[in-house]
Amino acid sequence: MKKFFLPPFILLALILLTGCDANGNLNFFSIQDDIEFGQQLDAEILANPSEYPLLSRSAYPEVYAYVEGIMDLILQSDLIRYEDSFPWQVRIIDQDVLNAFAAPGGYLYFYTGFLSFAESEAELAGVMAHEIAHSDRRHSTENMTKVYGLQVLLSLLIGEEPGLLSEILAGLTVGASNLAFTRENEYEADEYALRYMNSVRSTREYELRAMQEFFNRVEDVYDEEGEGSTLGAFFRTHPYNDDREDAMDEIWEELGAYNGEYYRAAHEAVIAQLP
Ligand SMILES: [Zn+2]
Repeated sequence: MKKFFLPPFILLALILLTGCDANGNLNFFSIQDDIEFGQQLDAEILANPSEYPLLSRSAYPEVYAYVEGIMDLILQSDLIRYEDSFPWQVRIIDQDVLNAFAAPGGYLYFYTGFLSFAESEAELAGVMAHEIAHSDRRHSTENMTKVYGLQVLLSLLIGEEPGLLSEILAGLTVGASNLAFTRENEYEADEYALRYMNSVRSTREYELRAMQEFFNRVEDVYDEEGEGSTLGAFFRTHPYNDDREDAMDEIWEELGAYNGEYYRAAHEAVIAQLP
């Protein structure tokens, strides 16, 4: 990467213009940058059907309607900051892989293996809310700011960093990148997922602890199958542990510790249609 030397006043102006985002975390990128990164990553995914075979929308309209319906419901939460400015879309990748990821700008991806591993709508909604939080809290561009700072922003502006997109994608899909989500990102995504679900409670009273149950089952299978398992990717991109579970319990209690619904039958009817 080329080195750039900027006069201090330009540096200062850039920092003041971009500054901290609403999390109070430094983010050099604009909302439009998040959207453009998401678009570019989505274009890479669409251009590579052997690695990312998409589930046919025309052949499986009910599966898409179900998954998009859950996304639309979570986006109704007042806590979502970019409901109107991000394009928000979900794609389903037809592979028996336990993974899901969120690109910047509201671009979400779920594998069929992930959808069928979920045992209820409440579990899927929990993990969907978690992925939405990664996008809406702008974790990817926040991490890019931390890891590369201003230098990468300038390189991107002048198109000198072609490897960066693949590095972001690797971080999102397999966690093998220093742009992968951090533990702090995971805690924040868990917390907001619970708050989003709680705030749409008048429409769908999801059991908030379903997300923990999902993560616990992922961990159990991972422990049995080991590093090489098909479950490895999601576990690496979303490292789960007892601390995360305890933190989620605390928020669940703060939100009133209510027992919600799982909506298992609705979920099973849709999952049964998957190829
Ligand atoms: Zn996560």
